[in-house]
Amino acid sequence: MNFSKETLALVKEADEALREVYAKIDETALINTSKVMNAFKNNRVSDSHFSASTGYGYDDAGREVTEKVYAEVFGTEKALVRQCICNGTHALTVGLFGLLRPGDTLLSVTGKPYDTLEEVIGLTGVNGNGSLKEFGVNYKQCEIGQGFTDMLDDKVKVVYLQRSRGYGQRPALSPKDITEITRFVHANSNAYVMVDNCYGEFTCAEEPEADLLVGSLIKNPGGGIALTGGYLAGTERAVELASYRLTSPGVGGEVGATLGQTRNMLLGFWMAPHAVAQALKTAAFSAYVFEKSGFDVSPSYSESRYDLIQTVTLHDPEKLKAFIRAIQYSSPVDSYVTPEPWAMPGYTDEVIMAAGTFTGGSTIELSADAPMRAPYTAFLQGSLTFEGGKLSIMNALEATKNS
Ligand SMILES: *Cc1c(COP(=O)(O)O)cnc(C)c1O
Repeated sequence: MNFSKETLALVKEADEALREVYAKIDETALINTSKVMNAFKNNRVSDSHFSASTGYGYDDAGREVTEKVYAEVFGTEKALVRQCICNGTHALTVGLFGLLRPGDTLLSVTGKPYDTLEEVIGLTGVNGNGSLKEFGVNYKQCEIGQGFTDMLDDKVKVVYLQRSRGYGQRPALSPKDITEITRFVHANSNAYVMVDNCYGEFTCAEEPEADLLVGSLIKNPGGGIALTGGYLAGTERAVELASYRLTSPGVGGEVGATLGQTRNMLLGFWMAPHAVAQALKTAAFSAYVFEKSGFDVSPSYSESRYDLIQTVTLHDPEKLKAFIRAIQYSSPVDSYVTPEPWAMPGYTDEVIMAAGTFTGGSTIELSADAPMRAPYTAFLQGSLTFEGGKLSIMNALEATKNS
């Protein structure tokens, strides 16, 4: 290992200081693994569930068992877990269009949703592309902690929460906070509560309560094994409505060939609590070493974590690029590639990304991305192994200091 004495000393200090943090992460992984283990057992998962269906995919036992396992682990009545859901944005779009009708209001109570949702809602983008706004769905938002009782009128059909910080600078929401909001909304209106659960799954010993929890399989719940896909888990009716949007009214979740993907999905879900623990340790480790090296980080190494995201603020575009590039150069795939800032579809600012991943764009694998805007914050997430994550962060630390 070719690191400076200073870096090696800091790593030693970090591992000692983080001993309890790591132990807490292991404990969460144990609890979540036990939930997954019970769900596999209760639903009698067998190798016959790994076989591929084609065509319509009627009565696909592997698909049905996968969805039952997800529903049990998330504590919901029903789930849709599909490889034909292309990404998190698609899953969220299916949920929103499934629940909302013309004249309804969508109320976000966690501020502006994730960047790619802006065009879905109709806040930005080309008129004529079919946003919610074009279909006559109104949108309102308030920030976290700002009371929204006054905004919760009869027109509000969906109260929307984003668990993760996303590309924002606010902390992630805990499952407990989300559950409290869900119960408040249900006690005071007929609205559905829909949660963007991306990056949150398995970071805590419990998942939030809501009508619909939505996420991507190339993040936490895919465990680095699922090759593509998304999920929506929630109440019978909310999931049914989403299924009518995903395929067609009346048909819903009864179709959908699995093409041999259920094995990856189930193996990934089995691995997910452990993979998330590896990513959380990597995040806590990076928080410690960058904070001690004088940079701004969030969360701090000792803070509770409700999502995978670690931000490191470099306050300098060159240091930001050096950081992102060092992560890329440490990746198992495409380590020789130099990332450059570019205009990504769905994002407002130019973005620079490190993603040397086995699964294209997977962010349960170590990845880092940053919109090229002040204060030049890198958003770091993932790592299937803590060892790989740690070495990558050590490289990023040295590259950042030397740039
Ligand atoms: C990743 C993510 C999404 C969806 O993004 P995709 O790239 O389409 O999967 C939405 N919200 C949050 C908070 C996310 O992290």
